[in-house]
Amino acid sequence: MTKNTIKTFVIVGGGTAGWMTAAALSRMLQPEHVSVTLVESDAIGTVGVGEATIPDIANFNKMLGIQEADFLKATSGTFKLGIEFSNWGKLGDKYFHPFGTHGVDMNGIDFHQYWLHSLSDSNHPPLESYSMCAVAAKQAKFSFPSSNPRAVTSSIRYAYHFDAIKYATFLREYAQQRGVNRVEGTIRQVSTNPKTGNIDALELESGQRITADFFFDCSGLRALLIDKTLGVQYKDWSHWLPCNSAQAIPTERTEPLLPFTKAIAQKAGWQWRIPTQHRTGNGHIYSRDFLDDEEATQILLDNVDAKPIGEPRTIRFTTGCRDQFWYKNCVAIGLSGGFLEPLESTSIYLIQQGISRFMSLFPSLNASEVIIDEYNRLMCREFEQVRDFIILHYKATERDDSEFWRYCSAMTIPDTLQHKIDLFKAGGRVFRDDNELFTRPSWIAVMLGQNIYPDNYDPMLANIPRSDIQRSLNSMSVSMTAAVEKMKTHAEFIKQYAK
Ligand SMILES: Cc1cc2nc3c(=O)[nH]c(=O)nc-3n(C[C@H](O)[C@H](O)[C@H](O)COP(=O)(O)OP(=O)(O)OC[C@H]3O[C@@H](n4cnc5c(N)ncnc54)[C@H](O)[C@@H]3O)c2cc1C
Repeated sequence: MTKNTIKTFVIVGGGTAGWMTAAALSRMLQPEHVSVTLVESDAIGTVGVGEATIPDIANFNKMLGIQEADFLKATSGTFKLGIEFSNWGKLGDKYFHPFGTHGVDMNGIDFHQYWLHSLSDSNHPPLESYSMCAVAAKQAKFSFPSSNPRAVTSSIRYAYHFDAIKYATFLREYAQQRGVNRVEGTIRQVSTNPKTGNIDALELESGQRITADFFFDCSGLRALLIDKTLGVQYKDWSHWLPCNSAQAIPTERTEPLLPFTKAIAQKAGWQWRIPTQHRTGNGHIYSRDFLDDEEATQILLDNVDAKPIGEPRTIRFTTGCRDQFWYKNCVAIGLSGGFLEPLESTSIYLIQQGISRFMSLFPSLNASEVIIDEYNRLMCREFEQVRDFIILHYKATERDDSEFWRYCSAMTIPDTLQHKIDLFKAGGRVFRDDNELFTRPSWIAVMLGQNIYPDNYDPMLANIPRSDIQRSLNSMSVSMTAAVEKMKTHAEFIKQYAK
């Protein structure tokens, strides 16, 4: 170890972001050389929502050495194969955004082009009938992907639904076993060094003073360090994503146990349904500028499918992110760094990215500006890419039954998103920018699902006989249906693997 090494880290906050950060530091740093302390306040508590994920979370757990079945047992977790969207394009519309791919690309031409070609046939099944994940999900079935790349089930990808509070507790045990110190108490003051502007110390209500070389702000929407102490500005994206409130309430578990999230568009926002082993998580994300809280509660309660447990909780937020996630000797991870509504379940993924980018740019005591700038560039880009994908769901609507939807369909959108839509309309092409999170199948599922159709399919298909195309599509659909027949139900799978 050199003298110029960070020896003490403090994490402010013990929600999902705080304990994920603590677990990662405890796994990757040598506890005998580096001290990690996490401060959390029982009086303040955590936001306590965040139940649906995307497949990348498995990599985070794997990096920690956590066994999947242990994790699912500890968090009452279930499997997730995608999201079913209702009422987004038009009232009554339904489509599925699956993990994994649709069909198989052939002759160097993307599968969806074959599907677009088949639209002129009198009988054309929906795009999702060529997705293993969607076909299994619709029948409440689940299986792990096959390791044989030739098997149709090799295209399965999955994530999890779980109880976010239990996940934080699970990671807390993990991190404490690996030497992370936990301090319970409310921070009343944060002091900075007048010369450098760096954070020096935290002072708790109890009078305890905690110093460190480096600080993580995982204090949630309060943003105690990055905002209240360091004054880093927030980019407000509510003109593109006008929802600013959420009400959440769990309900009793229902049958069958579905392996997918539901996102049901409502009058001025949307409602989620997330099945875990012991209950269903429900929430209503809405814009208070278009809907009052009382009506929002009524919509939520009118649209749950089982008995509510407790009373709805309201959370306010502003969609956007920090100008800088890393400023001075502080990195903001989780809600303190930014928030994009959970329509595509990306917040925990963004926490994961915040941690892994930090690890890959791990600084010495006085981090050079180029490292800090690179971290901020990468995180801002990541947030913007996810932002564009979420805006697409609102912009691509033909709904005009409420002021909210009329606003969304008429709003101007970022140029980056407009370009993607224009390119898709002109021949159905989608390209992945800069290794962005959402890949071609995701963009295609949402664009077609919300009635954005290209003016034509790929002209290269003109050379392939129509009967060959039909035969290939039929055989894919038949083999997927046959594979799903053999699968266990999701409930059986969970019972045997992770109850
Ligand atoms: C409505 C809603 C739905 C969501 N759904 C999903 C989803 O489906 N999937 C997904 O990936 N993400 C989702 N998220 C996001 C997810 O919940 C959060 O990203 C995640 O929980 C991280 O929260 P956090 O740890 O940053 O903040 P919090 O959970 O709020 O934790 C903040 C911590 O800071 C501590 N703290 C604050 N101030 C002080 C102080 N003065 N002194 C001491 N301690 C302090 C608190 O006690 C707490 O421990 C959702 C978020 C919302 C709002």
